[in-house]
Amino acid sequence: MTAGGPARPWGDGTRSVRAGEAAPVPGAPLRPSPVFAAPFHLGDRPPGADGADGYARTGQPTLRAFEAAVGELDGGRCLSFATGMAAITAVLLACAGAGDRVVLPSDGYYTTRLLARDELARLGLRVDLVPTPEVEAVAARGDLGGARLVVLETPSNPQLDVCDIAAVARATRAAGALLAVDNTTASPLGQRPLALGAQVTVGSDTKALTGHSDLLLGHVSTTDEEVLARLRSWRDHTGSTPGPFEAWLGHRSLSTFDLRLARQAANAAAVAELLAAHPAVSGLRWPWRPGDPSHAVASRQMLRPGGVLSAELPDAAAVGRMLGAARLWTAATSFGGVHSTVDRRAQWGGDDVPPGFVRFSCGIEDTDDLVDDLRAALDRV
Ligand SMILES: *Cc1c(COP(=O)(O)O)cnc(C)c1O
Repeated sequence: MTAGGPARPWGDGTRSVRAGEAAPVPGAPLRPSPVFAAPFHLGDRPPGADGADGYARTGQPTLRAFEAAVGELDGGRCLSFATGMAAITAVLLACAGAGDRVVLPSDGYYTTRLLARDELARLGLRVDLVPTPEVEAVAARGDLGGARLVVLETPSNPQLDVCDIAAVARATRAAGALLAVDNTTASPLGQRPLALGAQVTVGSDTKALTGHSDLLLGHVSTTDEEVLARLRSWRDHTGSTPGPFEAWLGHRSLSTFDLRLARQAANAAAVAELLAAHPAVSGLRWPWRPGDPSHAVASRQMLRPGGVLSAELPDAAAVGRMLGAARLWTAATSFGGVHSTVDRRAQWGGDDVPPGFVRFSCGIEDTDDLVDDLRAALDRV
C-alpha cells in the first residue's frame, strides 16, 4: 500500500502511522512483530531465491518493514544503517573512491568532518569543505565541476543555515555529480530532498525520526537504482546493518512522528519568542522565525518547522547558571527527542562557535511549562 488515496495525498499524521504498510492479511498481527534471527532456514534453492531470507546482515523482515515506511516518507527506496554515521559513510564510500573530488559542508555535523579529515583523506578522496551559506554561489559559478559527489547539510547542525537544494541540484546534475543531502535536522517530514532534485537523502534516525533518545539508527533513501545497489552491497560487505530490535523500536516510534514534531515545533516557536526578547541572549537562529537569515529559503523549500534552535549566551559560565537553575531543560547532546535539552557546543570542540553558543532541542513537554522554566533559568544568568 502506498501513501495517498486516489483523491489527495495523505497528511503527515496518516503517513507516520501507515507508510509502508503491507496489505492486511486476516489473522496476521496488526503491527509487524520483530523477527530475531541471524540465520534463516535454507531450502534447496540458492539463498535469496524467491526473496527468501538467508542471513540477517543482508536483510530481514523487521528491517524491510521499517525501510518500507521510511522510504515512503522520503519518496525513495530506503536502506537502514546502524547509525547516522554508518549511513553517511556508506554514501561517501559507495559513491566515491580514491582520486574523486567530494564536496562537504565546512559547518556541518562535526563527526562528518572528522570522517573527512581522518579517513577519507587517507583513502585518497579529495575533500573540499564549503560553508552552507556559500554553496549555492559556488555551484552557480560552476565550481562544483569535477566533483563526483556533493553533500549538503540543510539546515546545518548546529548553526541552522539553510541552502537552496533545488538550485544546487541543477548545478550538480549539469556537472555530472551526485547530490546527497544530510536531512537529519529537517527530518523526512520537514523536507524532501529527493523531490527537490537530490539523488540521495541521508539522515541520523537517532534524532527526531525515532525521537525517544534510546536508539542509534540511520538511513539512506535514493531514487537511483544503481546507487541503491551499491549501497546495498556496501552495507552487506561492511556489516553496518542494524539489528531487528532497533528496527522494530524505530518503526514503533515512527507512528508518533507527526505528533512529536508538531509539539516540538510549537514549543520552538514559543521558545524563540522568549529567547529573542531576553537580554541575556543574542544570535537566535530558528529558520522559521521571520527575520532569520534562513527564513526565506526555509519557508520556500521546507514543509514544516522543527524543534531545534540555536542562540548565544555571554559565556560558558552563563550557560552553566542557566542549566543549574532549569528543571526541564537538561544538558545533553543529540536532539529531536521527547525531552527538552540544551547542548553547549563548544564543550565538544570542533564547531567554530563561541563558548556561550547553545543548541536548544525542544521536547514534547507542555509549552507553558517549558517557557516558564526557561524564563526563570535565564533570569538567573
Ligand atoms: C547526529 C547527526 C549525525 C550522526 O548520526 P549518529 O546517529 O549519531 O551516527 C549526522 N548528521 C547530522 C546532521 C546529525 O545531527
